[in-house]
Amino acid sequence: MTDCIFCKIIKGEIHSTHVYRDEQVTAIRDINPAAPTHILILPNRHIDSVNMLTNEDEQLIGHLFTTAKQLAALEGIADGGYRLIMNTGADAGQTIFHVHLHLLGGAPM
Ligand code: 5GP
Ligand code: ZN
Repeated sequence: MTDCIFCKIIKGEIHSTHVYRDEQVTAIRDINPAAPTHILILPNRHIDSVNMLTNEDEQLIGHLFTTAKQLAALEGIADGGYRLIMNTGADAGQTIFHVHLHLLGGAPM
């Protein structure tokens, strides 16, 4: 999607602090962190929201979570605990319509 900010970040057209990348996902630090660790894990392929997922995306969505788990360990927050959030739609506060998993931790919430 040409006008999607996360697609532009994934393509390197907009700067972001990248923490992880593989064939399926890219992880970046949130520009406006809500916790000491606030990472966004994005599928490299554009998907608007959870509402647009299909059965073929199940492995990809699982990979978002296992990536979050690994990044939580690297950030040193795995034992303390962390929150994984995926906002869907306007009422949930989704502001960027490219699926992303928030990884939040590093302080009690
Ligand atoms: P949502 O509200 O859609 O679940 O979350 C979007 C998140 O993206 C917000 O936490 C916001 O701070 C973050 N964000 C918005 N624009 C940018 C950007 O250009 N770069 C980065 N790294 N994060 C962004
Ligand atoms: Zn996108």
